[in-house]
Amino acid sequence: MNILVTRSSMPPLDEYMDEIKELWETHWLTNMGVKHRQLQEKLKEYLGVSNIDLLTNGHMALELTLQALNLRGEVITTPFTFASTTHAIVRNGLIPVFCDINASDFTIDADKIESLITDRTCAIVPVHVYGNICNIEEIERIAHKYGLKVIYDAAHAFGETYKGKGIGTFGDVSCFSFHATKVFNTIEGGAVCFNDSDFGMRIYRLKNFGIRGPEVVDGVGANAKMNEFCAAMGICNLKHVNDEILKRKSIAEHYRSCLEGIEGIQLSPLQENVESNYAYFPIMIDEKIFGFSRNEVFDKLAENGVGARKYFYPLTNTFECFHGKYDVTLTPVAVHISKRILTLPLYADLSEDDVDFICRVILQCKKRRP
Ligand SMILES: *Cc1c(COP(=O)(O)O)cnc(C)c1O
Repeated sequence: MNILVTRSSMPPLDEYMDEIKELWETHWLTNMGVKHRQLQEKLKEYLGVSNIDLLTNGHMALELTLQALNLRGEVITTPFTFASTTHAIVRNGLIPVFCDINASDFTIDADKIESLITDRTCAIVPVHVYGNICNIEEIERIAHKYGLKVIYDAAHAFGETYKGKGIGTFGDVSCFSFHATKVFNTIEGGAVCFNDSDFGMRIYRLKNFGIRGPEVVDGVGANAKMNEFCAAMGICNLKHVNDEILKRKSIAEHYRSCLEGIEGIQLSPLQENVESNYAYFPIMIDEKIFGFSRNEVFDKLAENGVGARKYFYPLTNTFECFHGKYDVTLTPVAVHISKRILTLPLYADLSEDDVDFICRVILQCKKRRP
């Protein structure tokens, strides 16, 4: 492959060397050291949230959040996501109840949530998929009416705002991922943003084996502490993230100008009231109109050295590990979208020429239609 679907952001090497230098003096490498605390403060400000805690990755943020909230029973969620969202639910002994998604922005279809609520429902876990923001108001209304917790998987939504407010301020908890492939990375990393300080204390202990004090362990915790080298990477990357998002924006706009109005290709909407981070550039390919299927376009791109991704395909409710337990016919829109979606390469340093090349390969498919 000449053009991969993404490319990790890295600061200039000198900046990182400077940042980690003092670790050779302190010999404090993990367990909530200086870098951990510094990054935490910087992110709190950047994300506009009142509380944040850093973890090893976005998955542990989700998994420990569900544990810290002491949930039992059923959780309404979306199958159109990364494996992590569903696995975090199942690994907590909770039952995922899959709600269908919108055909327009691919987030959970809030109008279908209420019909899935039973007396065992304890929470809703929606995903701001591709950085498209869920129907926050409707989800809040439903959660309030039925006394449900709302945990947003905000892995794709770093730095976004909705109506001027940081996306991490919505719901009971928002979970971010700082994985190497995300808009902002700490190599591996993640965070939880929340309002309830009691929850904050619980997750802080759960990420450190449930240790309350030197002689007291009162939670069955895990180990999910962000180490100092990852935090230092975050401190460096954060200095450049605004620039990177601007570059992403201009690439996304270039894609849009090349692909907008092409029959059979649907682009992700620009959402009102949302300051986007341009994390992904998904396109929907309608074979009947475009003449070529998503899989054919994917293969054609691969032949030309371009690594697009069928993201999200397959749906999580069809995974082999669940042995057909979930009825996928209950989420027909998600099935429809996952067969047609293709995520195109997008990262800060992708050149305009590369975008032109990618679009040309896609459009050539159409021209070659017999
Ligand atoms: C990346 C991702 C996660 C998991 O984050 P990690 O930091 O890789 O553990 C969870 N949910 C979604 C939607 C993601 O894209």
